[in-house]
Amino acid sequence: MSATFLPIGTTDEIGDACYLLTLNGTTLMLDAGVHPQKEGWKSIPEFHLAEGRDIDAILISHCHLDHLGALPIALAHFPHASVLMSEASAVLAPVMLHHTASVMHRRQADGASEAPLYTHDQIDLIDYVFQGMKPHQPFPVFNLDKWDNDLQAQFFDAGHILGASGIWIQGPETTVFYTGDTAYHEQEILPGAKYPEGLVDVLITESTLGADPSAENNRRKDVVQHFARSITEVVQRDGNVLIPAFSLGRTQEMLATLHRLRNEDQIPDVDIYTAGFGDVVSNLYDRTVKYTRRRDPDLRLKNLDILSLPPGDVRRGAHLSRPSIILVSSGMMTEGTMSYRLAEVMLPDPRHGIFFVGYVDPDMPGYQILAHKNEETLQLVPEGPDIPVECTVQRFHFSAHSHRRHLLHLVDRLSPRQVILIHGERGAEGWLRESIQNQHPEIDVVIGEKGREISIG
Ligand SMILES: [Zn+2]
Ligand SMILES: [Zn+2]
Repeated sequence: MSATFLPIGTTDEIGDACYLLTLNGTTLMLDAGVHPQKEGWKSIPEFHLAEGRDIDAILISHCHLDHLGALPIALAHFPHASVLMSEASAVLAPVMLHHTASVMHRRQADGASEAPLYTHDQIDLIDYVFQGMKPHQPFPVFNLDKWDNDLQAQFFDAGHILGASGIWIQGPETTVFYTGDTAYHEQEILPGAKYPEGLVDVLITESTLGADPSAENNRRKDVVQHFARSITEVVQRDGNVLIPAFSLGRTQEMLATLHRLRNEDQIPDVDIYTAGFGDVVSNLYDRTVKYTRRRDPDLRLKNLDILSLPPGDVRRGAHLSRPSIILVSSGMMTEGTMSYRLAEVMLPDPRHGIFFVGYVDPDMPGYQILAHKNEETLQLVPEGPDIPVECTVQRFHFSAHSHRRHLLHLVDRLSPRQVILIHGERGAEGWLRESIQNQHPEIDVVIGEKGREISIG
């Protein structure tokens, strides 16, 4: 097999993304993520499946932790691999990894049985090898034994979040495009993805929204209007709006959206609050503005009129004593986080609204809130107190992933001989496989499986 693909992390849901791609004797690792719903050593890819292979380079598509979080462990296994990512990802990656180490240390201090996977010192020992590459410019990838560069690679802006890239790799015989997480549509801050002009032999694509028929009909403009109307209703009855959001990507997009809506009088003139690690990431969105694609190159998040939540107990303070909008992590309301503690006090009050704007896993407290029936009490965590639910709970589909019709268009456009589906539930991957095969019976469509190496090209 001169060209092969081997997933060594989760492929049948959103988990620890990590794939080995071998072209012409050079082996690349695409992404090195942690599973967001697992802890400790259970959350990382099975690096032992890569034993006996020389990994020449690790290419990181973007800095969400399901793609980046296991990089320090990957480098412990393969210390001489070069590490390549987009310029903006190289700014974000050390910050995201240090934040992850802090969270793991805090969890250990709170009594978690798992030791942290890595320490701040270990990150300091590796982050100087992260190479930030300019998007849309080809660069050589060296084979460390032959000291040869018969592979070329290129990062294509993938929309999604700051720095996110699709990765194009060209070997002497085979051309591969890996989408990473991709958003074809524009968001509030980031424009939509750019894709290679030419054709490819193998397309490796995410499948996140493959089982979601509603996503393809959701027009962003309609979602934003509905969101604005719902905020207005809460504020008019003297309530507060809580928006739980992920720190990287969704927080910045929502801050810019809320600020614009308030400026355009589409929502009332109330204070907008934020806090925590999302602020650190917002700062990096500003710092990288000159060399990343933006819809409005003049927009600076630090110039928006957004307030910081006062320090101390988030369940008390000026932000709750009059109508306001509070945008904080965590997006899925992990126990003990700011959004979790605010939800505890807001759920029983009919004036308030809790608005979800991103993915929520069924095991998380946020999902309990979304799934509850009116007039019932609710336990956010097993054996937690019964909380009456009186406030409004709504979900808005602000996606940072391409919907499934856009993924099918990408297949049409790149005209691959083979498509490998990863990063989605089995139902999502199944729908995409069937749809691609119906339209293009000549394409070999494979659903990636952890531990199963396939021949590609
Ligand atoms: Zn992502
Ligand atoms: Zn992902």
